[in-house]
Amino acid sequence: MTSVRAALVTHHHKGETIGPVLASWGWVLETIDADTDRLGTFSGDVARPADPVETARRKARLGRDRTDAPWFVASEGAVSAGLLGLARDVEWVVAVPRDGEGVVVGVAQSLDVAAFSLEVGPGTPDHEIAERVSAGLEGGHHLIALRHDHREPSRGALASVEDVVRACAGLGVESARRVQTDYRAHLCPSRRPVIAAAAADLAVRWATPCPHCGRGGFGPGGPLSGRPCASCGTPTAEPLGRWWVCPWCARREARVDNPSPVSAAACPVCNP
Ligand SMILES: [Zn+2]
Ligand SMILES: [Zn+2]
Repeated sequence: MTSVRAALVTHHHKGETIGPVLASWGWVLETIDADTDRLGTFSGDVARPADPVETARRKARLGRDRTDAPWFVASEGAVSAGLLGLARDVEWVVAVPRDGEGVVVGVAQSLDVAAFSLEVGPGTPDHEIAERVSAGLEGGHHLIALRHDHREPSRGALASVEDVVRACAGLGVESARRVQTDYRAHLCPSRRPVIAAAAADLAVRWATPCPHCGRGGFGPGGPLSGRPCASCGTPTAEPLGRWWVCPWCARREARVDNPSPVSAAACPVCNP
């Protein structure tokens, strides 16, 4: 196991989640607190201009003037509406070298993330808000209250029904508001195991050398289609496995996980 010295750049105590995972893989981490919120927030008060991996890469780069560490680690998550109304949480943990060229990306996802959301209309009475928000506080989760027009800054880290009622009043009873899960990592227990899994994925990739250039970071990327039709054998669009890719050179390899045939219903020849 080779030791990696890196700085974890975070604003929301992610060191407690990511640190032990990477330490178990031999990483020596220092933690740098930086205002990562200026690269975008879950509340929408600050828009995210870039996709999550690029946002995480930029966060990692915020640490480069603060230490001589050769590597920088940061994370980013995205919660979106998934199938059947379930929320889907995807977490990325990235490692970026000091010169900023290239990035190793660990990723994990879950459908077990908290996803409370309540629309609060103008003039909704306090007792009605109080009755409906307790479900969102279960399991140690926190809530955030915001105005749809963002004319007041959102009020987050709400830990009790009383906090939520007070925050909604403070945003202005005349406006449309929403109370939702506060997704900042230290306030959202259901994100933390997913972040830890993404950190473990980063460590596994890191420890996997590219068969061409020999640098660590080789691992699964996009899907590889082509499972054969059970009737005629024609390759279909169904996933056969993954492309494994190197973040440093152009090497990619097709890795087959599931070569079993699929129903002719998915075949472009039998069922055009
Ligand atoms: Zn390579
Ligand atoms: Zn066919």
